[in-house]
Amino acid sequence: ISHELRTPLGFIKGYSTTLLRQDTSWDASTQREFLIIIEEEADRLTQLIEDLLESARLQSNTLQFKFQPMRMDALILDVVLRINQRYPGLSVNLDFGAVPLIPGDNIHLTRVFENLVSNAIKYAPGSPLEVGLAQTGKNLHVRFADHGPGIPSEHQAMVFERFYRVPGENTLNTGTGLGLYICHQIIMAHHGKIWVESAPGHGTTFHIELPLDASAHPET
Ligand code: ADP
Repeated sequence: ISHELRTPLGFIKGYSTTLLRQDTSWDASTQREFLIIIEEEADRLTQLIEDLLESARLQSNTLQFKFQPMRMDALILDVVLRINQRYPGLSVNLDFGAVPLIPGDNIHLTRVFENLVSNAIKYAPGSPLEVGLAQTGKNLHVRFADHGPGIPSEHQAMVFERFYRVPGENTLNTGTGLGLYICHQIIMAHHGKIWVESAPGHGTTFHIELPLDASAHPET
């Protein structure tokens, strides 16, 4: 974590000091290039701090949830459209059945899908994504699959733990090991389940089950 926090700070400090140097002048395009780096690194730092705060609130049970009837298909579509604007090359196949409204917290569930998509972009680069949505009995089932390198079976149970990252090449990507922990906690707060299925070399599939029954949420 300290490395993840220091790296963007180092970039921001380094490039801003460089721009402010009085003995050197930079042409407009170089200045812009430096400013873009500063902006990207500031965004990365913001995301990291948000993850740390959110995980601390989840741990201390102080994260507020606002359960309202919501459309999961619309929420997922919205996340996909927004991510596609940033990564136009990302191919996402949606396989949505007709599903009823469920009681859920829009903001936190959006976060879950943003985390899953950003992990797929990081750990399964170039792979198309498949998102399935269907009613299974008294639950809504979401299937979120990529065709990347997968997660070795001995690590699958641990990826939802706080700060856990699969050792090896994966750790060359930026990350804190908080994303899936946050997803797990948010789904638990909805009285749902999240689990992973993966065969190395054959991609990774995350499954989420959320109850359709509003009585599971006395606070609604
Ligand atoms: P982070 O991405 O910050 O490391 P996460 O909690 O989101 O943390 O993920 C935990 C670990 O699970 C990652 O470090 C990575 O090794 C593994 N992982 C997550 N999603 C995928 C995926 N789609 N394919 C392969 N590995 C994954």
